[in-house]
Amino acid sequence: MKAVGDLPFLPYGRQTVDEDDIREVIEVLKSDWLTTGPKVEEFEATFAESVGAECAVAVNSGTAALHCAMYALGVGPGDEVVVPPMTFAATANCVVFQGATPVFADVTPGTLLLDPARVDACINPRTKAILCVDYAGQPCDYDVLGEIARSHGIPLVADACHSLGGGYKGRPVGTLADISVFSFHPVKHITTGEGGMLTTNHPSLATRARNFRNHGISGDARRRSENGSWYYEMTDLGFNYRLTDFQCALGISQLSKLRGFVLQRQVLAGHYHRGFSLIPEITPLLVRPEVSHAYHLYVVALDQDRLSADRNKIFAALRAQGIGVNVHYIPVHLHPYYRQRFGTGPGMCPVAETSYERILSLPIFPAMSPGDVETVVDRVGDLVDRYRHPSAQQ
Ligand SMILES: *Cc1c(COP(=O)(O)O)cnc(C)c1O
Repeated sequence: MKAVGDLPFLPYGRQTVDEDDIREVIEVLKSDWLTTGPKVEEFEATFAESVGAECAVAVNSGTAALHCAMYALGVGPGDEVVVPPMTFAATANCVVFQGATPVFADVTPGTLLLDPARVDACINPRTKAILCVDYAGQPCDYDVLGEIARSHGIPLVADACHSLGGGYKGRPVGTLADISVFSFHPVKHITTGEGGMLTTNHPSLATRARNFRNHGISGDARRRSENGSWYYEMTDLGFNYRLTDFQCALGISQLSKLRGFVLQRQVLAGHYHRGFSLIPEITPLLVRPEVSHAYHLYVVALDQDRLSADRNKIFAALRAQGIGVNVHYIPVHLHPYYRQRFGTGPGMCPVAETSYERILSLPIFPAMSPGDVETVVDRVGDLVDRYRHPSAQQ
């Protein structure tokens, strides 16, 4: 990690890749199959088992997995999909890829998770699906969202890119919605460089996703080659969203370490909680008792009434000290593309908009130590002391 001042630069997130992982990749590079070979099926089977899902489909990004989900569910022009604004743009973009309209439902203060009451209010005959996001790694209220989806006869999709390894009421993320979607970008829980996965207990949806990731061609090249057949049929328009065999080898190796990675994230979060319990100007996101939080992000909100510095000033001061804070996210409905194309804008999701002004993501990744957390808490505490509003001082 790059040194800045007297502190090594702490990014907000980074991968943990070891010699075992590297060996597995090299093995595949020396084999006959670089892509769409045995490692893809092995990764899918291992992943499905690890989250308790019936089917898993590997693709080359989380965004591709989201697109496959929208295609598999038949989302198309004229349809609407309810999404939260407090997410990465890809969550809403996948709806637009299919010619449909994302409808932004606001989040709940405290957790910044999709507010079920707001979702219910957005549903109309055009609504084709609800797409929720386990923001920061905390699973949504799946019983309530699932009931809303069922009562309207529409599917629930989980953007679980933050919550791999997490759980809700004792059930693992990956089985909580009709389709769940994961990303293996280096900042996520496990990595394949770029990569993603879709899980479902509906085999017909998995088959549609599989065809879509391979140009809309049914079956796969390896089987055809084993059968010595040249014949194939393209039955729909798809994309090349395939994940390579050497990336799947990395994924299998990484997956074997997932439990430890998540545990370490939870330990670090515990240290942050304890540190910030002594700093009333800093409020970590609320964690509901029924979840196992996977802590992709550790997000805090600044109490702007008690501080003379705004979030941007605190952000810049921490960055200048080598602490790689970040902001997740600019609410998607405020991006120029969405404003221009869909007429969205300020005032549509007030909770997300006001929260956005106050939040900071602090470094959290498995290779960090509790000492690193202490350093971050101390630096944040020093800034709070420096900028505490005079009227708030005793
Ligand atoms: C990372 C992420 C994605 C996209 O994943 P990529 O693999 O980068 O395409 C989508 N949604 C959320 C919430 C994410 O965090």
